[in-house]
Amino acid sequence: MDLFDLAPFYVQPPAPLEPLTTGERRRQRHAEAAAGGFHPLYAALGLVLRLHPDAGPYAYPAAPGLRCGGCRFRRLVSGGARTYPKCLWPDPEVRPARGWPRLTHGPGTDIRASWPACVHHEPTPERGDP
Ligand code: SF4
Repeated sequence: MDLFDLAPFYVQPPAPLEPLTTGERRRQRHAEAAAGGFHPLYAALGLVLRLHPDAGPYAYPAAPGLRCGGCRFRRLVSGGARTYPKCLWPDPEVRPARGWPRLTHGPGTDIRASWPACVHHEPTPERGDP
């Protein structure tokens, strides 16, 4: 005879979470950096690079504000058969002796046009920002 006349009670363990892909982890780090007031490059390079005071919000790419896409330092750099958007600060025309500090050959430093602008933003003469 059982002490209590109840069916055994089992707790179903939660299903394991799907691991994030590399791109999802990267986007998560970008969002965390932007939430802390840093440019997403902070997540890739560890650069202490503040957002511009007039930068648009990271989470709402269509919202008004300064973006990397309107910056004169964002250039397409060829790499094999493709081109990659990179930040060629401080001078896109003159390669520094040790190379551009924000340029690596990895996807972490690809500069999305929708990213909020950093404090070094300078508008592209022909396009500019709204
Ligand atoms: S705003 Fe301009 S200088 Fe700043 S990270 Fe973007 S492309 Fe580079």
